[in-house]
Amino acid sequence: MSSTKYIFVTGGVASSLGKGIISASLAKLLQARGLKVTIQKLDPYINVDPGTLNPYEHGECYVTEDGAETDLDLGHYERFLGVPTSQANNITTGRIYQNVINKERHGDYLGKTVQVVPHITDEIKYNIKQLGKTGRYDVVITEIGGTVGDIESLPFIEAVRQIRYEVGSTNALCIHLTLVPYLAAAGELKTKPTQNSVKSLLAYGIQPDVLVCRTEHELGKDLKKKIALFCNVDANAVIESMDASTIYDVPMMMQEEKLDIVVMDKLHLPHKGKPNLDKWKTFLSRLKNPKTETTIALVGKYIELKDSYKSIVESIIHAGAANECRVKIEWIKAEDVTAKNVASLLKNAKGVIVAPGFGERGIEGKIEAIKYVRENDIPFLGICLGMQCAVIEFARNVLGLKRANSTEMDINTTDPVISLLEQQRAIVKKGGTMRLGQYACKLKKGSLALKIYGEERILERHRHRFEFNNEYLKDYEKAGMMATGINPDGKLVEIVEIPAHRWFVGVQFHPEYRSNVDRPHPLFVDFIKECNK
Ligand code: GLN
Repeated sequence: MSSTKYIFVTGGVASSLGKGIISASLAKLLQARGLKVTIQKLDPYINVDPGTLNPYEHGECYVTEDGAETDLDLGHYERFLGVPTSQANNITTGRIYQNVINKERHGDYLGKTVQVVPHITDEIKYNIKQLGKTGRYDVVITEIGGTVGDIESLPFIEAVRQIRYEVGSTNALCIHLTLVPYLAAAGELKTKPTQNSVKSLLAYGIQPDVLVCRTEHELGKDLKKKIALFCNVDANAVIESMDASTIYDVPMMMQEEKLDIVVMDKLHLPHKGKPNLDKWKTFLSRLKNPKTETTIALVGKYIELKDSYKSIVESIIHAGAANECRVKIEWIKAEDVTAKNVASLLKNAKGVIVAPGFGERGIEGKIEAIKYVRENDIPFLGICLGMQCAVIEFARNVLGLKRANSTEMDINTTDPVISLLEQQRAIVKKGGTMRLGQYACKLKKGSLALKIYGEERILERHRHRFEFNNEYLKDYEKAGMMATGINPDGKLVEIVEIPAHRWFVGVQFHPEYRSNVDRPHPLFVDFIKECNK
């Protein structure tokens, strides 16, 4: 195909309508027809990336192969498409301004007054078109964060208007996602908010081509016609999006509504045969028809906001489906766990995951939980900080180093079993300065990890500053905790195991960023398999 097609997804009426899932579902349907698709998210906030945000603000920070700290929607994109994203797939207002200001300081604007229009909007357009220009994609879907009418997303909307004008209506289209609320007292679905939100979009010069209407009740033909008439769109381009029991149903629902056909017709993309969604359907059927059930506990610091652990939860769902097992998650607030209540808190858990995290809060609870599962032979998966806590627990309770700690929690610890990487010591800036992105790891012969992965060299994504302190490695291995995954360049310990335990694995990396519907992550699959025994 000669030119890339651009699809823009905007949202109206309310936030949290599921733009990310609609974008990912449409991308999945187009991919299933043989098109190469990528999805990009534009976020209107001024942080340069979400890496510095507290998880309570926007949920998990998702890390790409190239080490970009990004919005959690990119996790959905990768889980649905099975194709890696990169820094180019997540742009914030902060990054746009940073680029423009850097250019200004560099003298690139040759004395001109630098303004929102055209300089900020040009920088936005450049970042959208750059993905198209790689030549790797037939379709670039760009999701605009926020709600139309917000002050902060205005430059993004203006950039969309300009790109549509420049590339023409058969090369770009706008999908607007709205809410059609149900008024119980009137017993009616209401279309006025949708009409008004389309009007605001029109005021910015954009006529949406497709409306996806989020609703709790069926819209029906008449309501679709009404929305079409008042919003100036084709009746077949009013797409109903009902609440779904799982996000993985949404591609099938969008196919049912013919969203893919409408989009392909408008963009003059030939329908190449029937979409191939066989793998997806197999996954869905396993997900919905489990043969067994198991319960695991997820011990974390940010459990009040489940989105903080989005990728871990989705990885568990993928692994559950792979095992044809329904997995119930019991959320355990790390701070609540004590030596006294740990047995009762974990009494239903057939396995325990200790989550990633930063800072001191909840650490002692995580360590208590790990002591309990280690001593009681309960399957354990520790991720990043979870692995570090397993290392601290082992030092204190097996090696007898009572004051062992990570220097993140106690800078004066007598036994810094987890400490700062040498290259991290001089770093003071916060954004994008951790050990980020994909690194190689070599697995030891005879290890559980090698058995699970089935290959000696693996690639996994990282996001941390602190690291296992190799000065203690011999003591650990003598006492039965083995380093079974090592980074071949820096000799860093990436995986620890206790071979005498039933299933005890701590990983310094984040396997959850690599699990997707087509390829559930082997660590999660094996962990759930063990819990389900
Ligand atoms: N706080 C720890 C570190 O920086 C762990 C980070 C994490 O769990 N992602 O090393």
